[in-house]
Order: sequence, then C-alpha cells, then structure tokens
Amino acid sequence: MDSKELTRNADFKSEIFTGDEYCSNPVIQSFVSIGSKITLTFNTDGIQPVRSSPKSLWPILCTINELPYDFVDKFILLSSLWHCESKPGSDSFMKPFIDEMRHLYESGVEWHDKHGNKQVTKVLALICICDSPARCVLCEMTQFNGEFGCTFCLHPTETARKEFAKADVRVYPFISPIPPTRTHATTLTAANASTENDRIDGLIGLSRLFLLTQFDIIKGMVPDSMHAAWLGVSKQFITLFLESTGKPFYMGSQADIAAMDNTLLGVQPINEMLRTPRSLKFRSFFKATEYRNVSLFYSVVLFKDRLPLPNLKHWLLFVNAMRLLFKKKIKPSHIELARALIVNFIIGVQDFYGSAHVSYNVHLLFHMVDYVKMWGAPWRSSAFLFEHVGGVMAKRFHGSTHVNKQIFSSFFAANALKRFAINHIPNASAEIQQLYEELDCNVLPRHGIPSETIGKGHVHNNTHNLKFERG
Ligand SMILES: [Zn+2]
Repeated sequence: MDSKELTRNADFKSEIFTGDEYCSNPVIQSFVSIGSKITLTFNTDGIQPVRSSPKSLWPILCTINELPYDFVDKFILLSSLWHCESKPGSDSFMKPFIDEMRHLYESGVEWHDKHGNKQVTKVLALICICDSPARCVLCEMTQFNGEFGCTFCLHPTETARKEFAKADVRVYPFISPIPPTRTHATTLTAANASTENDRIDGLIGLSRLFLLTQFDIIKGMVPDSMHAAWLGVSKQFITLFLESTGKPFYMGSQADIAAMDNTLLGVQPINEMLRTPRSLKFRSFFKATEYRNVSLFYSVVLFKDRLPLPNLKHWLLFVNAMRLLFKKKIKPSHIELARALIVNFIIGVQDFYGSAHVSYNVHLLFHMVDYVKMWGAPWRSSAFLFEHVGGVMAKRFHGSTHVNKQIFSSFFAANALKRFAINHIPNASAEIQQLYEELDCNVLPRHGIPSETIGKGHVHNNTHNLKFERG
C-alpha cells in the first residue's frame, strides 16, 4: 500500500487525496483507480515582472495532486503564458489550456519508463486556485463587490457605509438561514439564461470552464487561504487595530507600535520560519507569510493588554480557527470546532465593528471549512505553492521581445536538467551530491521532519539551501 492509499483511508484531512471529494466522488474515483492517471490543480494570477513596464505575465501553472506536499512545488508545470498590457479575456486566455486538458483526459501523454517501455498517463484537472477577482472572471460571475458576488453561495449581499473611507462597500453579514450553496448544475442553468445586462444569481454568461472535462465549477474553485485569510482577514483587522484612531480597540499610537516592535523584533524564529519579523511600521509592505506569522504566532502576545479583552477574545476566534485548519493532520472534530469559531467570529465582526467590516474575505472563511472537507488542508490548495514562480519567471527573460518564448525555453531547459539529475545525481559521489544540493536542492531525498503545523516553510537540515518560504 503506498502513502496515498494510507492517507486516503485515514481519519483526517491533509493532502488533497484525503479529501472527501477525491475519496468519494465516483467520477474521480473511477478515473484515478484504473491505469496510469494523475489529477491536477491549476492556478493563475497576474505578475508584473518589470515595475517600469505596464505589461504583465499571466501564467497557467499546474501541480500534481498525487504528489506529497514536500515535493509538489518541485514539479510545477507551466501550461500557458499570456504577456500583455491588459488583463487577458478569460475566454481566449483559457481556451488553449482547456483544449489541451481535454486531449490529455481522452488520450493522455506518452512517455517512456526507465526500461524503455512506452507508458500513457491520462490527466484530469480537479482544482483551480486563484484570488477572488480572478475567480469571478473565470466563472463569468459578478465581481465579489456586486450583488450575488459570492462564487460559492447565493448570499444576496448588502451595502454598508465605511466610516473612515466614507464610501459604500458591499458586505456579507451572517444571515440565517444560511444562503443556499451554488452547485455546478444550478450554475450552468443560470449561466445559460444570463446575459451581461440580465444577470441571474450574479452570472454574466457561460464560462469556458464548463468545457473543462469533469471539472466542477463550484467544488473545483477553492477559496484560497493565502488571499482570503492572510492578505484578507488578517491584514484587514491588523490595519483596523493600528489605524482606527479614537476607537476603543485602537492600538496604533507611537508608544504602542514601539512597544510591540520591541517584542516583535526580539523574536528569534525557529529555522522553519524563513522570515524574521519586521517592524509593524512596514505592515503595508508585509507579504502574506508575514501577516500569517503575526496572526498565528505573535498576535496573542502583542495584542494582550492592548486590545480590550472582548476584542482580543473575538480576534482569537479567527486565530484559533486558522490554527486548527492549518494543522498537518486535521481531524473531523477540528473541522467542526473551526466552523463554530468562524461563525462566531463573523457574527462578532458585525457586533464589535459594524456590518461594514464583514468583508468578502471574512465571508470566505465560512466556505473555507467546507473545502477542507472536500479537498484536504488549506495549505495544500493554496496560492503559496505558486507564489515563488513569479519571481523565478521574472529572471528568465532579457529584453522585451519574445518574452513568452524565452520563459518557456528556460522552463523546458530546467525540467530537462531536473530529469537528468534525478537519474544521475543519486548515483554520484558524495562531493558531487553536495555540490548539486547547493545548486538545486530539488532532487535529493529530504531529511527533515514535517512540522505539526504546516505553514512554517520547508523543513531541511541544510537551512542555507532553503529557497522559498511557502504556506
Ligand atoms: Zn458565499
């Protein structure tokens, strides 16, 4: 029995193949259980490689769901790449990817094993990860700041006035009964009957994703924890606490910031956390990992005795829910407790701060829980896995002509080198192995022990080789 079988049968959620959808959906099970098959997660997000240029890169990147977390970002596939001044239209942008995936599902990809025997592996795309604006575009739905803007449920939304911004915002207060969840079938029906000017349930029209073989446009679009939890809720409330002058929960005075910085900058993180804390003065430049680290690991100490106790207890509902969902192995009881904490957190946002602060990201926390049941832990289906690729891509072209071609050539060359290394480096002398390890630690077996809580980066004995911190 391989590791996939072991975790698939385990009573916890972790890798994608421990999720209820992967284990119990008859379409997925009939696909993966016979012959050589793999399933994919795909991601897209805009990257601006050169600040002085308005042009951006829009790659479609894929990871293999059957690979364990420790290896998954070592085998990221570049499917297609859009390089333009404006955002690509979803229809033309997705067409080559969807055509290729349909072919790979029907006919598969041919390859030769180490004995020279021809093998055919068929491929199915199951999951898409992107931020909320991109998800709305790909699904041909109203943006999240519009009526019926949630791509997961039929929350009608409300408008509320933000005190400091003095502008109306679209909000998602907790309502009972809970709004019905969208399904693939109901979304297809509504999309068929919708137009740009006559929208049904927030749908604008038919998404090209309906042509992606066996892809469920609702279950397959995972709410991304990097954007929703860390760059969303975490950033929203840390900013609120530090910038709401005059409010009882305000703790952004010079004295407070200095005292919190004194604690924060004195932290010596364990080597799994690649980023050392930065001053809260630089919070507007914080990366998702910094918001995550402050929230999960430092905020209890920093906020204690500064936030009024009711506000602190309310903030800890979010922190504790995330700590449960970001465990390496999430038990059913963890999921249900996290759900209860999140519901109370959302209701508390209205009570403590007003409905104008029940943002879409706050609402997404509610959906995140269901997707942990469906597809495993949020750290396994997160944009963190793809975050470093933008930086790598930016280094893989020179000048401004044939950028796409340069990047693809570079990716193919790197993959060819990796294939060569996988075959030969493990048999090389210790000296050569060490040299290769220093140049590229992607091939040799890991020696590290996984953490109990995922989200602290790679665990590796040779800490100087750690390249990227991720979720
Ligand atoms: Zn919703």
